[in-house]
Amino acid sequence: MSDIEIAQKAKKKPIIELAKDHYGIAAEHLEPYGHYKAKMSLDYIDSLSKQKDGKLILVTAISPTPAGEGKTTTTVGLGDAMNRLGKKTLICLREPSLGPCFGVKGGAAGGGHAQVVPMEDINLHFTGDFHAIGAAHNLLSAMVDNHINHGNSLGIDIRRITWKRVVDMNDRALRDIVIAMGGTANGYPRQDGYDITVASEVMAIFCLATSLKDLKERLGSIVIGYTGEQKPVLARQLNAHGAMAALLKDAIKPNLVQTLENNLAFVHGGPFANIAHGCNSVSATQTALKLADYTITEAGFGADLGAEKFIDIKCRKAGLNPSAVVLVATIRALKFHGGVAKEDLNNENLEALEKGMVNLERHLNNITKHYGLPCVVCVNHFTHDTEAEVKLLSEKVEALGGKCVVSKHWADGGKGAEDLAKAVVDVVDNKPGKHTYVYEDDQPLFDKIEAVATKIYGASEVTAPPKVMAQLKELDKDYGKLPVCIAKTQMSFSTDPTLRGAPSGHTVEISEVRLSAGAGFIVAICGNMMTMPGLPKVPSAEKIDVDDKGNIEGLF
Ligand code: ADP
Ligand code: MG
Repeated sequence: MSDIEIAQKAKKKPIIELAKDHYGIAAEHLEPYGHYKAKMSLDYIDSLSKQKDGKLILVTAISPTPAGEGKTTTTVGLGDAMNRLGKKTLICLREPSLGPCFGVKGGAAGGGHAQVVPMEDINLHFTGDFHAIGAAHNLLSAMVDNHINHGNSLGIDIRRITWKRVVDMNDRALRDIVIAMGGTANGYPRQDGYDITVASEVMAIFCLATSLKDLKERLGSIVIGYTGEQKPVLARQLNAHGAMAALLKDAIKPNLVQTLENNLAFVHGGPFANIAHGCNSVSATQTALKLADYTITEAGFGADLGAEKFIDIKCRKAGLNPSAVVLVATIRALKFHGGVAKEDLNNENLEALEKGMVNLERHLNNITKHYGLPCVVCVNHFTHDTEAEVKLLSEKVEALGGKCVVSKHWADGGKGAEDLAKAVVDVVDNKPGKHTYVYEDDQPLFDKIEAVATKIYGASEVTAPPKVMAQLKELDKDYGKLPVCIAKTQMSFSTDPTLRGAPSGHTVEISEVRLSAGAGFIVAICGNMMTMPGLPKVPSAEKIDVDDKGNIEGLF
């Protein structure tokens, strides 16, 4: 059965009822979007502020193949399993973007028997948050060009505008465009471009904001570009931040949905894990911590990207204290790191598996040594995995001193992840860790980048052209205390996506730095970073359809 077929068979319960039954939340605190989705009121969230926090568990992964290794699926399966064991657990996921949904990867609501539902809605439009974020972003874009059209009193240099436009679609044709063609009535022509909505700084701001007030403040601090004298121009100077926040007033409320096993889940916010920090919203995570004894959350891509940013950006800024990490590994990805071609990943290959283990080893070491957290390795079991492969992997992880659990939540739901749940609960309750940062606030920006590159990526050095070095020095003056967000490929520890396994001694070259003043981090871009993906030759969109009754087919 496909993911969507399983999801459509789910015995969903009205979300209002579930919230009341599981957490005693009165209906008046929820704003239903149909029967199975609801937003939680900000007043109710405020009323929880005195409650004690539960424990926080991060789900991350080894360096992924393009298909994804199952972080979301594992987060959902683990949550269902912990609830089965009587542990009050909430999960916090990111909202899927339409781009990948129609591209290669498909949906992002979990898979098999570990999904959040209604999966069609969650994958397509959901409660409209991403559209609101896109609208807020594009309002600012429109106000920039409008300001220039009407005399440009702020002196914005049209060659130095950094604020692009966004749309939630993979559309390579929009990467580099010229706008305002067609004569004087249409403004001043200039080069522009589109990013995908999840790459918008508004998305990152949305996910880090702790209140509407904080959201508006951060939106006001967005730098849209520079004047002829190289002075930054802020959204606040264009008086755009109030209207932008107004567009986001509902989106900012966390969305509540359920798993296939009727456990509650927050699905809220969804920034990229390269150009942004890759985690769901701080507001959803903090609310979950107040309500449940355990909160499980996922961070994007592998542990070198998502988990690093989860710790160094999200936890640092929001004061979160994770107790443990679950590192999701798949045998097929390890074989991929051991040199096997994509087409051959379903065939047993112990030699390649052993060779590819170096990738897992590096991630495991980073988590325990550099993030300071205990780690449970979860082997997300695929039907093609052979017994010999599973045995070899378990032995290798144990030999590294790690805890390794094979989990079958994709096939069997929460029941299939009970062993994983027991192992995780044991660590969280009996041997929780205290996280450490990879760098400190007062290190210069370049040193922060170097710390991540050398400690986490295994690089020997970081280089940058003189222009970028000068920019970093300049940024150190006013923004030096900010964390760094390194945008690099998720396919490798290095900046070269073809270097699988655990490359060492490589050079990390920063090609560009960008200030995300509203989000509160400095983005360091390494190599060609795609902020507007394209569709593949045969996009998933070709298989998606809707029948005469409105039932969606072919979404996976
Ligand atoms: P991530 O969150 O790491 O990107 P997902 O959980 O979204 O990964 O899973 C990616 C895809 O792989 C989904 O389509 C999911 O259905 C599929 N998948 C995950 N785990 C398994 C498994 N054990 N067996 C088969 N397919 C799986
Ligand atoms: Mg995911």
